[in-house]
Amino acid sequence: MIKEYARISCNSIKDSFTFHDLKRKIISKRGCHCEKCKSKTNILIADHIIPISLGGKEFEESNLQLLCSKCNKEKTARDIYKLNILKKVGFIEMCSNYSWWFYDIEEVLDSKIRPRGNKTKLQLIEEHKEIIDEFLKINFR
Ligand SMILES: [Zn+2]
Repeated sequence: MIKEYARISCNSIKDSFTFHDLKRKIISKRGCHCEKCKSKTNILIADHIIPISLGGKEFEESNLQLLCSKCNKEKTARDIYKLNILKKVGFIEMCSNYSWWFYDIEEVLDSKIRPRGNKTKLQLIEEHKEIIDEFLKINFR
């Protein structure tokens, strides 16, 4: 089973009235502070806890957290790391600028595409079990 997720660009989401409105609603509910380090700041970023590129919901309040720019940078770095692992093993593939193909574990194991580097798919899956389990749980439960 292949899942395709079409999405609009991050910039257009952030600029849209709907997203701005949702962010304001969350700030009024949760307060004007970083939800990770608790620092008070006026510059808060509405971060997708599960990134859209990994199957997270764009406009779901429970998938959004308010972060200061420092915490957001750290979170983004972790998200990029996860994304690269999933791409390397073949679970995820960008098919256009704004949409992704997601593959389940059987398709990854069946496909003839070899991961880059000298490790086998099974070795990579074993090595990054936590990231892959999380991805499969979100998208193929
Ligand atoms: Zn913070």
